[in-house]
Amino acid sequence: MDTNLPVSDKPRVVIVGCGFGGLRLAQALRKAPVQVVVVDRNNYHNFQPLLYQVATGALEADSIAYPIRKIFAGQQNFFYRMADVQRVDPAANTLITSVGDIRYDYLVLATGSLTNFFGMESIERNAMQIKSIPNALNLRSFIFQNFEKALLTSDPAERQALLNIVVVGGGPTGVEISGSLAEMRKHVLPKDYPELDLRRMQIFLVEAGPALLGPMSPASQADAKRYMDELGVLVHLNTSIKRYEDGKAYYSDTEFIPTENLVWAAGVNGAEVPGLPAEAVTRNKRITVNGWNLVQGQHNIFAIGDVANMTTADMPKGLPMLAPVAQQHADHLAANLQRMLRLEKPLDFVYNNKGSMAIVSRNKAVVDLPRDIHFRGFFGWLTWLFVHLMTLVGFRNKVVALVDWAFSYFSSDQALRLIIRPFSRKDVRDDQGKKTAEHRTATAEYNATPPAIQETAGR
Ligand SMILES: Cc1cc2nc3c(=O)[nH]c(=O)nc-3n(C[C@H](O)[C@H](O)[C@H](O)COP(=O)(O)OP(=O)(O)OC[C@H]3O[C@@H](n4cnc5c(N)ncnc54)[C@H](O)[C@@H]3O)c2cc1C
Repeated sequence: MDTNLPVSDKPRVVIVGCGFGGLRLAQALRKAPVQVVVVDRNNYHNFQPLLYQVATGALEADSIAYPIRKIFAGQQNFFYRMADVQRVDPAANTLITSVGDIRYDYLVLATGSLTNFFGMESIERNAMQIKSIPNALNLRSFIFQNFEKALLTSDPAERQALLNIVVVGGGPTGVEISGSLAEMRKHVLPKDYPELDLRRMQIFLVEAGPALLGPMSPASQADAKRYMDELGVLVHLNTSIKRYEDGKAYYSDTEFIPTENLVWAAGVNGAEVPGLPAEAVTRNKRITVNGWNLVQGQHNIFAIGDVANMTTADMPKGLPMLAPVAQQHADHLAANLQRMLRLEKPLDFVYNNKGSMAIVSRNKAVVDLPRDIHFRGFFGWLTWLFVHLMTLVGFRNKVVALVDWAFSYFSSDQALRLIIRPFSRKDVRDDQGKKTAEHRTATAEYNATPPAIQETAGR
């Protein structure tokens, strides 16, 4: 298939992924003397930090997504192709995609991350994850479907498993989704399901480490735990879920929590693109880059954001997988690419850590700022709302989110609980199995490439 990209006398910068990093980079190259080609499998930019609100019915899916073509309408040097990138062939300066090959002068991998199931196949097959809009809509449908089923069963054990929700991973995503579910249990579900005894619905938050919000300050960790206790979320620290099958989430060989609703928010891997030499890819599938975001062993391939493993003296394990890192990488790389075009030496990246925050529920959030500044409660919650509202793409999305939030704040209700895409565990398996199989096939194909090609790829 021909991608029909126009021939240009300007160098072509191909960006894979239009998430936080890819979007910002393509915008920052608006006036640069280059042709910008963005490739993404989705035709929209997805604001991942608010996915959990879609999953719990607080926001509409289309208020956290924005069409890529609309964002770039009017940008003369911009071209978009909706495609799945399958592999890169560095020796031929070519990207192999589901709609055809794309030649590049500079390639930027901004593919983000994928859920890490740590090789536990029963969990990968049966758990719900929250990395994309379809995931969030599936999760929302799945929970409400299980409530409908709970009304129909006369077996108390089965009903308990249908009502119980286990969230695995005590990072910001796990904390945010547990808090939101607890609010739903308090304000929404009793109105919708008066026939169910919702005192029996238990929300578990399971974390392998000794504290919630691992990377945040001890004060934020303690506040988050206290908030969870106040909301009635059962927090299990130093506990790992090792297996999940037949409605049982096992935390040892024989002990389990009965649940039909397990949300896996326990870790991510880089979404590597096959074709790079093995030594450039870390154990958690991030791509090793230098201070210019240049991929190890390459001269014209860069990686930014979650997929890039950039280490610094104070962050030897790599910069955190956060939206501001992706955006700062993008700004820096845009400036460096223009320096390279002027034959000037690129500059090293310096991370400007602006702090971190997590919301637990209404009026409850924790915020850490540089210089050990910490605050929480209503002011933290307002700060969280303001920052997220401001970073949402598109004026309409900001307005819709604000209206939805104001509505739920004053009515203690969430309007969005339609089961519009009925979902089954078999679909989870098919969907995740298909993606894993596609990834394995692409990697296997690359590994089967004759060694001569792989050697030149390391140039
Ligand atoms: C539920 C959740 C909550 C979060 N909350 C916060 C938060 O509160 N604050 C914060 O700072 N960060 C948060 N993050 C992390 C933040 O979203 C990421 O750090 C950020 O999205 C990384 O940006 P990126 O550009 O590297 O990748 P992404 O934004 O993930 O974008 C990657 C893009 O690449 C595309 N893509 C990937 N592979 C391919 C392929 N093979 N072919 C074609 N297209 C491809 C994807 O479709 C996607 O559009 C959260 C993440 C999640 C999942």
